[in-house]
Amino acid sequence: MNIVLIGFRGTGKTAAGHLLARLLGVPFYDTDALVEEEAGARIHEIFADLGEEGFRKMEKEVIASLPAGPGVFATGGGAVLSPENVEHLRRGRTVVLLQADAATIEKRIRDTSRPHLTTLGLREEIRQLLALRRDAYLSAADICVDTSARSANEVAIHIKRLLSEGTVPVQGMERAARTIAQSGIPGDEAGALLEKVGTIGDNPALRFYGIAGYPSLHSRSPQLYAQLFSYFGINAYYTRFHDPSLSRILSLAGDLDLRGLSVTIPFKQEVISAIDQPDGHCTAIGACNTVLFCGGKSYGYNTDWMGIRDPLAEEKGKSAVVLGAGGAAAAAVYALLSLGMEVTVLNRTVERALALASRFGCSSGVPGDFDRIRPEVVVNATPVGMEPDRGSPLSREQLVPGMTVFDLVYTPPETPLVRMARSAGCRVVTGREMFVRQAQAQFRHFTGIDAPLHMIREMMG
Ligand code: NAP
Repeated sequence: MNIVLIGFRGTGKTAAGHLLARLLGVPFYDTDALVEEEAGARIHEIFADLGEEGFRKMEKEVIASLPAGPGVFATGGGAVLSPENVEHLRRGRTVVLLQADAATIEKRIRDTSRPHLTTLGLREEIRQLLALRRDAYLSAADICVDTSARSANEVAIHIKRLLSEGTVPVQGMERAARTIAQSGIPGDEAGALLEKVGTIGDNPALRFYGIAGYPSLHSRSPQLYAQLFSYFGINAYYTRFHDPSLSRILSLAGDLDLRGLSVTIPFKQEVISAIDQPDGHCTAIGACNTVLFCGGKSYGYNTDWMGIRDPLAEEKGKSAVVLGAGGAAAAAVYALLSLGMEVTVLNRTVERALALASRFGCSSGVPGDFDRIRPEVVVNATPVGMEPDRGSPLSREQLVPGMTVFDLVYTPPETPLVRMARSAGCRVVTGREMFVRQAQAQFRHFTGIDAPLHMIREMMG
């Protein structure tokens, strides 16, 4: 048994961790205590001498050199803010997030000698830090446990049970696995899923992820995530949901106690209303492609817009045209506006262009307006050029040297638009680059770990 406890101060990591270690008959390690031992000083003295930065540096060194286990490892409240720490902590271990409401945390830590991390009063500091750290905690965990109404002893017993019996009934998992296996997904994936669920008794801490789409058979996410989970030593299996009904997919996700869901066409818009807490980017774009489940709640994110923004980070303030007015176009408009660009949406159905543009306060028109605008940046957010289509949304004459052409279509890797833009001397960004970058951001949400871009590119082949 190799378990890491993470969470805010006052959620019971040390008390429950000691008891859990005793129940499991393994050693207990507390990263704060190890830092104090290393420094020969108490945490508040380290903060006073070296500041938070000095403490975090020592904490990082301690986490990087923790014994491999078996053991129960409790971490300081801010440890998982660093993806590097999370990478070390997760390798070969099950991470349990201990949660508690703000009032319980305040009651538990009011009289401790721990340093304040801000100049705010205790109640406000707890409220603000919990909000600030929420996503890092959610991402780094395999399992979430609410400790608000439980004693340390009850928490330890509860975790031990989850780790030996799993988080949901096996019969429900088996039923869900059979339904998914018969939904038309590739035979090898169906077999692997049935095998994982069939042997869950030997590996009850295994967590499930998946992609929801219809169709979803073209998606390469299962292959990519299998490689990422294996590389980072994470005990997880990523499957594929191929079903026209989102509510059926979400019900199967519940039976498997899914940890994370990638969402693709046609569910990116619909899924928002099914999520307990979509973040501000999802709500503004009107689409969500990443869902995390933790402690009975769901959290929504959009990483598509980041996959468009990041390759264009050097092109701030330029004039841009987005071709298309669907979900990908909305993410593109949001990304370009975040870079201070002047954006015009052009779409064959002009009413849809107008509707999208007016949501974001930008201009709109039909594809024929392109020559009048002569943009510096153009993003193709239509499926024109996607296999088996061989067309291009722009002609060779419309592409001029110095223009940046971003084609979101990624099958084939070299679309007719990309080929023409290269030969016209344009800067070209491919849909594959968007996919790689949104996958990097999604993996960070799913695990708290930063996978390098070059690694994802190589794994994509
Ligand atoms: P969508 O919601 O269906 O929207 C498609 C848009 O393209 C609509 O505005 C539609 O115009 C327009 N369109 C469709 N066929 C057209 C044609 N033959 N000529 C001109 N315009 C046409 O689709 P989406 O989700 O936004 O996806 C759009 C593209 O982005 C897809 O090719 C997808 O593969 C790509 N994408 C890539 C990534 C990545 O990671 N690289 C991620 C997401 C999406 P009307 O309004 O007139 O119907």
